[in-house]
Amino acid sequence: MKNTNSDGVSSCVQHYFTFSDNAQWSEKIERLSQAFLCQSHISQQMDVKGLQHQFQFVDIPMNGCSEQAFLAEITQAVLPYSINTGSPYFIGHMTALLPNFMRPLAKLKSTLNQNMVKLETANATTFYEKQALAMLHKAIYDRQAAEYQQWLSSNHHPLGAITSGGTLANMMALQLARARSLAKYGDVEALGVSGLMQRAGYQRAVVIVSELGHYSIKKSLGILGLGKDNLITIPVDDHQRMDIVALRKALLQCQKDRDHVVAIVGIAGTTECGSFDPLDQIAALAQQFGHYFHVDGAWGGALVLSKKYRHLLKGIEQADSVTIDGHKQLYLPMGMGVLMLKEPQSSAAIANEANYIIRRNSFDLGRFSVEGSRPANVFYLQAGLKLLGREGYAEVLDGNIDTTKQMAVDVDDLAEFELLTSPQSNIFLYRYLPQSMRTKKQLSKADNDFIDVCNVRLQSVQKSQGNSFVSRTLFKYKGGGTVVALRVVIANPLTTLAHCQAVLNEQKALAHEVQCLLQPLAAEYD
Ligand SMILES: *Cc1c(COP(=O)(O)O)cnc(C)c1O
Repeated sequence: MKNTNSDGVSSCVQHYFTFSDNAQWSEKIERLSQAFLCQSHISQQMDVKGLQHQFQFVDIPMNGCSEQAFLAEITQAVLPYSINTGSPYFIGHMTALLPNFMRPLAKLKSTLNQNMVKLETANATTFYEKQALAMLHKAIYDRQAAEYQQWLSSNHHPLGAITSGGTLANMMALQLARARSLAKYGDVEALGVSGLMQRAGYQRAVVIVSELGHYSIKKSLGILGLGKDNLITIPVDDHQRMDIVALRKALLQCQKDRDHVVAIVGIAGTTECGSFDPLDQIAALAQQFGHYFHVDGAWGGALVLSKKYRHLLKGIEQADSVTIDGHKQLYLPMGMGVLMLKEPQSSAAIANEANYIIRRNSFDLGRFSVEGSRPANVFYLQAGLKLLGREGYAEVLDGNIDTTKQMAVDVDDLAEFELLTSPQSNIFLYRYLPQSMRTKKQLSKADNDFIDVCNVRLQSVQKSQGNSFVSRTLFKYKGGGTVVALRVVIANPLTTLAHCQAVLNEQKALAHEVQCLLQPLAAEYD
C-alpha cells in the first residue's frame, strides 16, 4: 500500500511511520499466529535443499512490496516449515509452549522500544528490571529485606543482569570470575590475560566443569582469552553428577602444577540428561580452596520455584553467581537469560564507563553488561513472575518432572526400549532395541553399532514425518563406548503421559519400517 509524497512519487514511508495501528496487518498476523499454534503437525516436510531453494533472491526490492505479498511469502514459505515448538508431541528440546500473555506483551515491548542500556532511554523500566532481578535473587539467595532495600536504591549494586541467553550469562559469570580471581595481581580487563598471568607467575588459567558441561563454557574460555584447551573436565558418576573425589584430585593437581583456577562450575540440570551436580559439596570444596563458584542453572535453576524438587539445588545459595535461562524453564520468549550475583558489589570488577552514555555513578544498567543496547525483556520476566507466581511455576515444573518420570517407567517396562538414564528432572535418555538385540546378555561393539544405526534412522524418520519429536545425542555407555541415545525433554505443561505413550507407539511402528530400510546415510550423523 503506498501513498504519494510531496514530489508526487509513490512512497510507503508515510504509510508506515505513523502512530496509528495498522489494524488489517495486526489482524492478519494474529490469525496466522493462531493457525500456527493450533496445527496438529509439528512441521511439514521439506529437506534442507528445498528450504535453501526458497530463499535465493538477494536483491532488496527497489520499492517496498505489498503487505499482502509479504504475508503470502511467510504463509507459503516460512510458517509450514517452521517448528511448532508448542506442540505437546514436541518432547525433544528445551523450547516449548509459552503462556498466552507473552504474545501481546511482545507488542507492547516493541511499541515502547526502550533501550535498557541507560536511564535516558529506559527510565522506569530500569527500576522495573532491578525489581525483577531482586525477586529472582531472593528466591535463590534469600537475603535480608534490608539488604534488598539497600541494593535496590543503590547505583553500585546490580543483583545480576538480564542477557540474551544462558551462553552470555555464563560468559559474564566467567568474565567476573576471571577479574576477581586475578584482582590481587592487577586489572585483567586493562592488562589482558597473558600480561597478568606473567606478572602472577602462573602457567595458565583454568576453569573446571563436569564432562557434561554445556559448550557455552568452553566457548567462553575462547572468547575470554583463557583458551578452550584450558577447560578441565571432571568425570561424572553413575547418576551423571560431577564426581567429587575426582574434583578434589583435580584441584590438588592444579595447586601442584601452579595452574590458576578461575572458577569451578557446577551444573544444575545438564543439557544432556537433566542431572544435577552436588552443588553443596562443590561449594564446600570451592570455599576450602578459595575459588570462585558458578552454577550453570540455565536449565534447572528455575527449580528454585519448585516445592517438590527444590532440594536438587541444595547449595545453590553458596554460589558466587547463578545462570538461569529465562527462555527455558521460566517460560519467557526466546532471547532471555539471567545472571544472578551473590554479592552485588562484586560486579565492580567488570564495570564499564563511557562519558556520553553510561556515566560513572549513574543508574545506567549498561555499566555492568557485556551487551550494549538491549530490549526491555523485563516485561516478560515480570509477567512470568507476577502472573504465574511461585505456585504457577511450581505446578508447571513439578508436573513436567512427574510426567517425565512416568514416561521413563513406561520405557523401562517396554522390551523394545532400553532406558539409559533415569530422570532426575524432566530429561532422560533411552534407545530403541531391534528385535534381535533384546535377549542378548552382552552387546558387542558390532551390536551397538547396529543399534546406533537403527536409532539414528528412527529419530530421523520420526522427525521428518512431523507428528512427534524426540532429539538425539551420544551417551557414554556402560564399559566406556559411546552410543546413540534418544533424548526426551518434557517442558510443555500440556504434554500428558498419553502424549508420551503416543510418541513411543509411533516409534515402535516406525522402527519396524526402519529395520527393513537399513541404509545408513553418513549425513544423518551430523
Ligand atoms: C541451554 C543451556 C545453556 C546455554 O543457554 P542459551 O540460552 O542456549 O545460550 C547453558 N547451559 C546449560 C546447562 C543449558 O542447558
